[in-house]
Amino acid sequence: LTASAGAAEEPRHRRMSNWGGLGGDYDNKVYPAKKLCSHCGLCDTRYITYVRESCAFLHQHIDELEERVHGRRRDMDVEDELYFGVFKEMVAARRKEPIAGAQWTGIVSTVACEMLQRGMVEAVVCVQNSERDRFEPRPVIARTPAEVLAARVNKPTLSPNLSVLDAVERSGIRRLLFIGVGCQVEALRSVQDKIGLERLYVLGTPCVDNVTRAGLQRFLETTSASPHTVVYYEFMQDFRVHLKHDDSVVGGPGNTWEETVPFFGLKTNLLKDVFAPSCLSCFDYVNSLADLVVGYMGAPLHWQWVMARNDAGLEMLQLLRSMGVLEEQPVMSRGDRRQAVQQSIPAYDAALTLPMWLAKMLAVLVEQFGPRGLEYARFSIDSHFTRNYLYVRRNYPHKLEAHVPEYAKRIVEQYELPSR
Ligand code: FAD
Ligand code: SF4
Repeated sequence: LTASAGAAEEPRHRRMSNWGGLGGDYDNKVYPAKKLCSHCGLCDTRYITYVRESCAFLHQHIDELEERVHGRRRDMDVEDELYFGVFKEMVAARRKEPIAGAQWTGIVSTVACEMLQRGMVEAVVCVQNSERDRFEPRPVIARTPAEVLAARVNKPTLSPNLSVLDAVERSGIRRLLFIGVGCQVEALRSVQDKIGLERLYVLGTPCVDNVTRAGLQRFLETTSASPHTVVYYEFMQDFRVHLKHDDSVVGGPGNTWEETVPFFGLKTNLLKDVFAPSCLSCFDYVNSLADLVVGYMGAPLHWQWVMARNDAGLEMLQLLRSMGVLEEQPVMSRGDRRQAVQQSIPAYDAALTLPMWLAKMLAVLVEQFGPRGLEYARFSIDSHFTRNYLYVRRNYPHKLEAHVPEYAKRIVEQYELPSR
């Protein structure tokens, strides 16, 4: 039985308390960024020595690192760069035959397996799950495609990916692929020259609204009709959360099904404090410092969104293309997000939750007439940056100026924010 399956028989308050923070030792340790720590893993290694200048929450320095990694800072006068960062190529793509059990179609796992197979790298840092719980992250140094595939699908919880850096160094690995989210990548980029690597590739995913394991349990229990059988979920471009279920995780016969819940029907009043403080103060949604970024939000429904930021990213994209497993289409953009974002600001503050019938109706309307493609991505970025700007202004006013990157300030300035 998985831990959550075992929890199914217990009363609700016990179930919730079973999920302490990240689990293990993490709850009892105090990290340098304190409450803002995203548990990226850096401080579990000898590289903690560099935390003051590397941590995304103690020393936000994305523009400086953009210059170091991509050779230039983003051009804030070009809207696509203001929003999505430095890039050389951006497409919508998907695997013709999706990898079963991957988060989307498995582009991330495909690139990583192929790089190993061709000897471009000796190892891949990625995240499997622990034996007791399908959502508990277990960062690993994968040496074989099978180990990479075992890491497919999101563990939608804070994950200490950098915690394996000491082991990377000890094992003498010289060519490495690192898969991770923005805060992990910002810290990695800050120390990458100290790890003794000859070549480092970084394959990033966008990331937003991450949670501790306890927070994830609360999200599932307030959102899903069957929280214990969820194996995957995603906030999709059709303004609905899609949750995939598999009843074999509670010892059932292995039936799978999908549940959808409109965003507007989420119980915001119960979920407001579920997101980690690190994620409520993050402005690197699109993983600005990765070589290749693979997400979904700039692409049409059921497609992935792929951005090569520099030559290393192009190399990975070309590798994918050479395999003949992809279909592609140009990115598109439709609609105007601004009014919807402006309305979302007071609605979030008031924790408004609509009755389900109205939420469903609204989802149909927004899906028909709302923002699509890159405009959907801008909608999501604007909504999260305005919310996070207010969070930092209210909770960490002394950090506001230095912590919020210039591009995020420009994005937020487009909207009227409450005075307090
Ligand atoms: P797969 O082939 O299934 O591989 C997934 C990879 O993700 C694995 O290699 C694994 O190592 C890695 N991974 C899993 N969990 C974590 C974790 N917690 N931290 C770091 N790495 C992890 N995309 C958007 O466009 N918009 C979003 O709002 C968005 N939010 C996200 C939130 C989270 C917490 C995460 C982890 C990802 C998010 N993504 C988002 C990316 C998206 O959900 C997919 O991960 C991406 O499109 C890759 O899909 P895939 O099928 O190619 O991945
Ligand atoms: Fe250390 Fe990472 Fe936490 Fe910052 S976010 S304090 S670098 S573990």
